[in-house]
Amino acid sequence: MMKKLFLFSCLIIFNYGFSQTVSDLINEVSLTELTLTLNEFSGEQSTVVNGNTVTILNRVSNTDNNLAAEYLLQKLNAISGLTVTDDVYSPGANGGRNVIATQIGQTNPNNIYIVCAHYDSVGNYSSDDNVSGTAAVLELARILSQYNFDNTIIFALWDQEEIGLIGANNYAEAASAAGDNILAVLNMDMMGYENDGDNEFDIDVRDIGNSLAMKDDIISALNTYKVSNDINLTANVVNPGTPQSDHKPFWDEGFSAVLLGEAWSTGDRTPCWHNQNCIDRISTMDLDYYHDMVKLAMAYTATKAGLNALSVADFDGIEIKMFPNPMKNTLKIKSSEIIETSLNIVDINGKNIRETRISNIDESIDVSELSSGIYFVKLKNQRGERIIKMVKE
Ligand SMILES: [Zn+2]
Repeated sequence: MMKKLFLFSCLIIFNYGFSQTVSDLINEVSLTELTLTLNEFSGEQSTVVNGNTVTILNRVSNTDNNLAAEYLLQKLNAISGLTVTDDVYSPGANGGRNVIATQIGQTNPNNIYIVCAHYDSVGNYSSDDNVSGTAAVLELARILSQYNFDNTIIFALWDQEEIGLIGANNYAEAASAAGDNILAVLNMDMMGYENDGDNEFDIDVRDIGNSLAMKDDIISALNTYKVSNDINLTANVVNPGTPQSDHKPFWDEGFSAVLLGEAWSTGDRTPCWHNQNCIDRISTMDLDYYHDMVKLAMAYTATKAGLNALSVADFDGIEIKMFPNPMKNTLKIKSSEIIETSLNIVDINGKNIRETRISNIDESIDVSELSSGIYFVKLKNQRGERIIKMVKE
């Protein structure tokens, strides 16, 4: 018994790799990252776009919003694991550009979850409307891109919402025509204002597609993680919800969609909305409330996209990824470079269950005969030894 315990504790200590849960991903949502984007994208501070120091004064259609789109493209292109599209529609004076980043699902690539926000604005700053949603999408992309999911996640930033939901409408119609299997559209618009201290937010929903079930999934994600991840929010369901944001074009096509935002239903929404006498700036937002809203969006998205917990062992820059975790019948292994590595699967008692070598970029190991439980995968090569905890379902 002593021996086993000793071995077990050694394995824990030398667990250099990592494997994550939805709760871990929620914890990664960073108010520092969000605040930086809020400041840069609402023009509170300058930023560098395409090598030039610039201030994004506004995102008004056909003025500074091309600069805004360039900023978004640059941010998303800097994230590995995403395919980024500059979706220019109806080119010309009345055209616009949606910025779309896709993270392909590992198991069901045709199952699509969209997390989205409009990035255009009616005037300068316009922090709550809608840098709040835009920064949320970028933060989700930054974190989620580091993991593997069963389903595809599309991070979408819509143009021309303020002049008629044009960008989202363009996308929703094309997606419908193409028969895209969009399972849910999480639209975030104005999610950072809270003044009456109750931390309520709205989920605007209608009985279209599986939107009501989607609303239930969001509430369930909140209930699951509110204590463990300190998400201090209370949901108001608004049904029938407002059609005045980018989820509406998706409803029009019969897709499941909701709006996640501050509590308009109880009157606790920014007084600066489209108001030239009260400027919608970061200083009017409640950043703790906003942070919790983004954590909730993460809880929902990571759950529904099917966190296929990827485990990564980093050998001084060479990454060996193993997935899915939990394992089912096959353990897949992907190396960023070819590196001759020995692999041992060890059970929780320290017993060596399997021994093999990996010498290709892509490998898979049949683990169907392993019984359910916790295992340690020991990887050893010229750069060292890493041990990763894996679960067999
Ligand atoms: Zn808006």
